[in-house]
Amino acid sequence: MEEFVHDALDQAGAVWETGPDGVTSVLWESEASLRRITLEPEIAREDSGVDLVASGSPVFDSLARFGLGRGRVARAHVAPPPRSPPALGRAYQFTAEKVMRTEWRDRVEATWLFAFAATHAGEYRRESLHFCAVDAATLRVVRRLHDALSRLTPHDAGPEPEGDRPFAEVYAVARAEVLGSALTVFRAAQRQANDEAQRETSRLDAYYDAMLDEARDDLARAGADGSRHDAIAARIVAIEADRARSLSQVREQGRLAFDLEAAGALAIIYPRGVSTVTLHDKKGPRAQTTVVWDPILEQFEALVCPACGRPTYALELRGTTPSCGCA
Ligand SMILES: [Zn+2]
Repeated sequence: MEEFVHDALDQAGAVWETGPDGVTSVLWESEASLRRITLEPEIAREDSGVDLVASGSPVFDSLARFGLGRGRVARAHVAPPPRSPPALGRAYQFTAEKVMRTEWRDRVEATWLFAFAATHAGEYRRESLHFCAVDAATLRVVRRLHDALSRLTPHDAGPEPEGDRPFAEVYAVARAEVLGSALTVFRAAQRQANDEAQRETSRLDAYYDAMLDEARDDLARAGADGSRHDAIAARIVAIEADRARSLSQVREQGRLAFDLEAAGALAIIYPRGVSTVTLHDKKGPRAQTTVVWDPILEQFEALVCPACGRPTYALELRGTTPSCGCA
């Protein structure tokens, strides 16, 4: 079982390490948060911050099931639970004389889940895996897809997406999102490496200063003894050379390199519920907007305010154009 878990983690591209306490630390979610897992039910019971891994556990199952392995691009169709969207009023607030809505229809879209590997190379190489999901139709970052995946069954075939943005645009959004969090982690590592290098430099300086002081005292004591004098002078030269070598080594260790590369991508394709909402004033229909229900995330998507372009769940019709209240 242990081997199987580690294989699965490797396949999912996770970075992991098992400590003496039987807890495996796994790094693979966005913002580089560590997830801690164990095969020991006892440990999981005692520490609520540790997840128990058993077969069927959502921790790593979902990614393997969906075929997202290192270096892979996979596509999976999923069928959301057949449930009608809830009433619009639970999410949106429309202020108009009259609000009309068309019947719900399906629109198939993809949400892309990207895995990126960030590496810090320095004294030793560290790698972390970051995930980011982006809605291909709206280019919005989707935050809660991970948890939902464990409840879904992937299918090889299904209706193809319509109205998705080009892949390059979707990828760029994901990369920019991940770059931010990966760089934050990297900068923290760089700061730590700098601090360590500084501490080590001070320690080495003190060490070599003491050795040199001793050698100079010996030199003063050697007086007119020529051969003894030369031997001590050679010792001083050797100490200076050794100091320079050690200090440059420490400087090298304090320098980290950062790299971020795509490690895999998965398109999760499923129909959203779509309806057109028409806002009326006293004279009749004035403006239209499209509302979208995501049946997997179980939430309505935010609208885009036609006036300021910001996402909003409230539109008020004043004059002929609706706005979030900004106008
Ligand atoms: Zn606005």
